[in-house]
Amino acid sequence: MAVTILKGTVVSAPALGKLSIWENGYLIAENGVITGVFPTLPEQYAGAPVEDFGDALILQSFADLHLHAPQYPMLGMGMDLPLLDWLNAYAFPTEARFADPDYARAVYGQLARELVENGTTRVCMFSSLHREATLILMEELEKAGVTGYVGKVNMDRNSLPGVLEETTEDSMRETLRWLDECQDLRYIKPILTPRFTPSCTNELMAFLGKLSAERDLPVQSHLSENTSEIEWVRQLHPDCQQYWETYAKYGLWNSRTIMAHCVWSDQRERQAMAEAGVTMVHCADSNQNLCSGVAPVRTMLKEGVRVALGSDIAGGDHLSMFDVTAAALRASKARRILDGWETDLLTVPEAWYLATSGGAAYFGEQPGFAPGDPLHAIVLDDSALPQPHPLTPAERLERCVYRRQSGAIRAVWSAGRKVYTAE
Ligand SMILES: [Zn+2]
Repeated sequence: MAVTILKGTVVSAPALGKLSIWENGYLIAENGVITGVFPTLPEQYAGAPVEDFGDALILQSFADLHLHAPQYPMLGMGMDLPLLDWLNAYAFPTEARFADPDYARAVYGQLARELVENGTTRVCMFSSLHREATLILMEELEKAGVTGYVGKVNMDRNSLPGVLEETTEDSMRETLRWLDECQDLRYIKPILTPRFTPSCTNELMAFLGKLSAERDLPVQSHLSENTSEIEWVRQLHPDCQQYWETYAKYGLWNSRTIMAHCVWSDQRERQAMAEAGVTMVHCADSNQNLCSGVAPVRTMLKEGVRVALGSDIAGGDHLSMFDVTAAALRASKARRILDGWETDLLTVPEAWYLATSGGAAYFGEQPGFAPGDPLHAIVLDDSALPQPHPLTPAERLERCVYRRQSGAIRAVWSAGRKVYTAE
């Protein structure tokens, strides 16, 4: 049996707002599956090799539940327009480049490596509408050691004619072909991905809902990101009282559904999310960059909505989930100010939970380093930061969230495998 024993300052997020801390603790996995965290080395492991990281922090790795792989080439650029104009001016032309498989291979290999180096080991990711490039993306992620879901995007209306478009027939046929072709991958699985309601005809939505039910496939999309988008959806679906119902009526609204943004979801829409068990992905950077708004994330948690975090590259400008976590913290404070100081802000342990355990929950994992779950962990060396006086592990974690240091991640485990070691 293969035993992994990591020694250091182990910090995990076993519940919203709570940190468990073991100084000089042992995080142990057998055949890649966590058996527990122990204050001393259990007798049964005496003599087994221990990877001793000294005082370094051993943390859960990140889950990034919303990002657009084909927007990686424009990361950090072109964020001066609101959503709908931004899609046509920047996002769609950039995604169109992925008709070229060689381009896709080069870009996606780089993206996959950067994710792992930054400690992101679980993703729910949008590809482009291109079947071949989507398969390449899945292969490159799997090769780098990332786990999770990737979706070929469906968009058969309101796209960019002559640049990025597919017919309803193309969209259905290519989706079925893609599902056949990606069956042999082990760590990266398919997720159905209607881009958002304005991009998909009713016929395509009905097809995807039926496919999801028949093949037990999860679904990801966007919801209530921007007020012009919401108004557009209202015109397209006058029969639906609210945006979420345009997904629900086609069978795309259940406990395996991921909805990004939900900035403008009101109490009724939030209740529909909580009742269905939909996971809301909070993308604070993107919401600010595209002037979409400030999602009421703390209120959603209070109301029992499942919440995770997303980098949403390239509306978001940071791939590192340390930065994404800090952005979520700041956004919760902006929300509090806008709410006349009547709503709570996110605490650091709460935001840390969302970035790790909150996202892992979507994959059926327990929060924290729970026995029985696959080992997803990072070793974080914060010794390059100033050390004028001793800090508690919780203080060290807080400082690392706000003061991300490039190169501080020394090693990464994903689904039990060591997938990265710093030079
Ligand atoms: Zn998005």
